[in-house]
Amino acid sequence: MHVLILGGTSEARRLADLLAGDPALRVTSSLAGRVAQPRLPAGEIRVGGFGGPSGLAGWLRTHRVDALLDATHPFAETISRNAAIAAADTGTPLLALRRPSWQAADGDRWHPVPTLAAAADALPALGARVFLTTGRQGIAAFAHLNSLWFLARSVEAPVPPMPAVTEVLLERGPFTLDGERELLRAHRIEVLVTKDSGSAATAPKLTAARELGLPVVVVQRPSAPEGVRTAPDLAGAVDWLRALST
Ligand code: NAP
Repeated sequence: MHVLILGGTSEARRLADLLAGDPALRVTSSLAGRVAQPRLPAGEIRVGGFGGPSGLAGWLRTHRVDALLDATHPFAETISRNAAIAAADTGTPLLALRRPSWQAADGDRWHPVPTLAAAADALPALGARVFLTTGRQGIAAFAHLNSLWFLARSVEAPVPPMPAVTEVLLERGPFTLDGERELLRAHRIEVLVTKDSGSAATAPKLTAARELGLPVVVVQRPSAPEGVRTAPDLAGAVDWLRALST
């Protein structure tokens, strides 16, 4: 059984590592190619875009893919939509791995917003020293906020446009609560901006912000393609594959 995992997340890598040990499966992970030195999963790997939904459909046919697992980031909207179209066109079973959204706890001061642009609009009223964790591709949405100070954390260096006063921190999760607390304190952060990725690896910043009483601007997820079956965790994905192969 040939399984194609659309990756780019830690879950996708763990899923590939888990499945690659099964001799009944051929596992290929697909990466977009955005990160210069990605952590590579076990199994086969292909890198780069497919060329839209028709390109992905062609790849599924040519490589005789029996099951498609969309384990991309919840904000990677285009590839998830393409996967839904290509799976329907080719009759390939599709499952989307979607970790649950983060939930606010007592003491959280969250400001949910629908988009990065809305996050930028909300910032000036919330604080002048901003910890921006929305990734390098999102930094342009904040470029006009030249009266605020930014600490921008990303895996790869962001490119302009970006806010005039930006300190860049190149780091890859997982992050610890102690580390996040210290980071917020050392940089005298007044407000945090994050996407609702739901990832455990990046959740400690939310706890640290709660402890320090800081507001958090939370960018809500885009809607997932309709009609696609989802699983919240790796066990759900493995169960789905087992059911397919019996
Ligand atoms: P996107 O906007 O949904 O996709 C843009 C294009 O990139 C797609 O149309 C596709 O090109 C290509 N692509 C995306 N993921 C791919 C994959 N796994 N394998 C092959 N091609 C892929 O994606 P994005 O938001 O730029 O994210 C790119 C990658 O980074 C994803 O794999 C995602 O899991 C990961 N990531 C994203 C975020 C985020 O916040 N967006 C955060 C962490 C990790 P073609 O149309 O040519 O096939």
